[in-house]
Amino acid sequence: LKVDVYWHKAYILHDPGNGHPENPRRLQLALEGARRAGIRPAELGCEGDPWRAYARVHDSEYLERLARAVDEARLYGYPVYIDPDTYVSPGTLEALSGLACAVERLLGEAGPGRALLLLGRPPGHHAGVAGAALGAPTLGFCLLNTAALLATSIPGAVVFDFDVHHGNGTQEILGPPGVPHVDIHQDPATIYPGTGYPWEEGPRGSWYNIVVPPGAGDDILLDALGHATRILVGLEPRAVVVSMGFDGMDGDNYFAGLRAGPTFYYEAGRLLARLGAPVVAVLEGGYGRGLVEGLSAFIAGLRGDPPPTGDPTTSPPGVWERYRRLLERSHWLPGHA
Ligand SMILES: [Zn+2]
Repeated sequence: LKVDVYWHKAYILHDPGNGHPENPRRLQLALEGARRAGIRPAELGCEGDPWRAYARVHDSEYLERLARAVDEARLYGYPVYIDPDTYVSPGTLEALSGLACAVERLLGEAGPGRALLLLGRPPGHHAGVAGAALGAPTLGFCLLNTAALLATSIPGAVVFDFDVHHGNGTQEILGPPGVPHVDIHQDPATIYPGTGYPWEEGPRGSWYNIVVPPGAGDDILLDALGHATRILVGLEPRAVVVSMGFDGMDGDNYFAGLRAGPTFYYEAGRLLARLGAPVVAVLEGGYGRGLVEGLSAFIAGLRGDPPPTGDPTTSPPGVWERYRRLLERSHWLPGHA
């Protein structure tokens, strides 16, 4: 696939002003990751109307609440928390406007043989119809759900999410229309947002949750990718909207427990390249080395560049055992009653 990477200067303006993990440094790391893969990221300069654009996926009450919080932050001149872990800051409106503008651009340019990657902030896959999704305690750093907006705007699209956390917001938004959602993530019994079990089928049977236990390395994650491949091929998508999160990478952050190496992200890119449908990918999580090494490996896989050097990470036998038990309870497993 021909890969293009986009970013917008306004994504730096969403800023907690302290040690919050979702901060502007993430964008610098992701840009470094893209450059490491040999890509020169294209800077967007346009503006959009987030409240109008995202009305397709969020209800008006939530958008009004968010707009009020954004106004408050501008007025006070410092960040305001809308829940215990999610903030808006004086520059958040510009960042959201930059996301709305990027959506227009991605929709206009998506097409055969291409993968368009947006290095946007803040992330979105935990934002549901009316805020925190599927009973989650918080929005998990997310404000507006760009993946869900893209998936409802592209006919025949499916969503593939490989962030370490369950894409609960996307699944909540896309469940009723029945847009298929294939999501590899850490066992929700062990991590936020506490949903995304493999037996959850969703309102139209369109939820495909592939769950891996904490401690899982590339070996288990490649097996999970095999299941994702079979599901995605069967869905015959006309486009794939990807929630790309790199927080499953070993050493990326302190709040997740997977041990992915570059191999997992490379193979996720290869999977999409082999699938053949146009790819539109938006950045979700990733807080440290995942944004550099995970993203560059993902781009290499999309482009068909040589695989990363170094051995895939491996999982202890007990983790494999827990993985197999979760697999057996997956509604999408062939032969499952
Ligand atoms: Zn995440």
